[in-house]
Amino acid sequence: MKLSELFSVPGLSLSFEVFPPKTDTAFQSVKTATEEIAKLRPSFMSVTYGAGGGTSRYTLEIAKNIKEHYQVPTLAHLTCVSSTKETVKTKIEEMKAAGIQNVMALRGDLTPELKNSDRGSWDFRYAIDLIHAIKESGADFCIGAACYPEIHPESANQADDIRHLKEKVDAGCSFLTTQMFFDNNLLYNFLYKIREAGITVPVIPGVMPITNANQVERAIHLSGSFMPQRFKSLVDKFGHSPAAMKQAGIAYATDQIIDLFANGICNVHVYSMNKPDVAEKIQSNLSDILG
Ligand code: FAD
Repeated sequence: MKLSELFSVPGLSLSFEVFPPKTDTAFQSVKTATEEIAKLRPSFMSVTYGAGGGTSRYTLEIAKNIKEHYQVPTLAHLTCVSSTKETVKTKIEEMKAAGIQNVMALRGDLTPELKNSDRGSWDFRYAIDLIHAIKESGADFCIGAACYPEIHPESANQADDIRHLKEKVDAGCSFLTTQMFFDNNLLYNFLYKIREAGITVPVIPGVMPITNANQVERAIHLSGSFMPQRFKSLVDKFGHSPAAMKQAGIAYATDQIIDLFANGICNVHVYSMNKPDVAEKIQSNLSDILG
């Protein structure tokens, strides 16, 4: 099923994100974790693309397995930065062959090595280049792209970021998924601004349950997200106890999702990070709300 169809169905829904293994030996345990999450029957599952593409075959294998054996619609991520036209063409063909219908078109992060290389010669500099390549290939994918309620870290200002976002949407992307955020007001502000800029496609907020104290620093480093005092206090108080922190982190994410639903958001994406127990707990916390 194309996600554009799914988003047009009224009602509240949750989707989950998983990531592929980094090594061959980890494949089976990751596959099992993704299957446990699929059994929860989320509205869809996204499968990320390992930076550098070294494990790209697993993205497709996992997405295909979830779709075929659990009938859960899947969204396969694909990054393009510094790729050649030939590589991207092959990836698109592989996705078609795997029966993928939904693709998240991303640039990918710039490693220090990439930052120092000559970008002038790259075939793909931004996610929009990948969106163009998918469209030109004739593949009939429903295309999604990333957006940043707190601005992409490389953007000079929000106006530029939103202008580039509109270009991605105009190039043919049907929905947007947000970077994680821990203060819903930042999302509401962002939505107001992008709607004003003429971006009308569905925006799926991404919520990250922080379930251990070590995750906090990594999450801030990767996303640059603002941590509200309410969240910092929770980490200060419960961070030393893994069980208490997990419970508090799940409660915080649940609370964020309830507020999003109460304020008119219909689809929320949970960065469940291959943790079936976390996905299950959040879903059961919302069982009567989701209906
Ligand atoms: P772009 O849309 O290309 O934007 C990157 C920057 O360039 C922004 O600052 C933008 O404003 C600017 N820009 C865009 N177009 C232009 C232009 N024409 N001229 C000048 N500036 C421009 N990474 C992975 O490796 N694998 C994944 O699976 C993955 N999944 C993700 C899912 C989500 C929902 C999100 C939010 C991020 C994900 N990432 C993933 C991380 C992502 O690759 C990085 O955030 C990356 O730095 C930017 O990717 P993008 O697609 O948003 O880039």
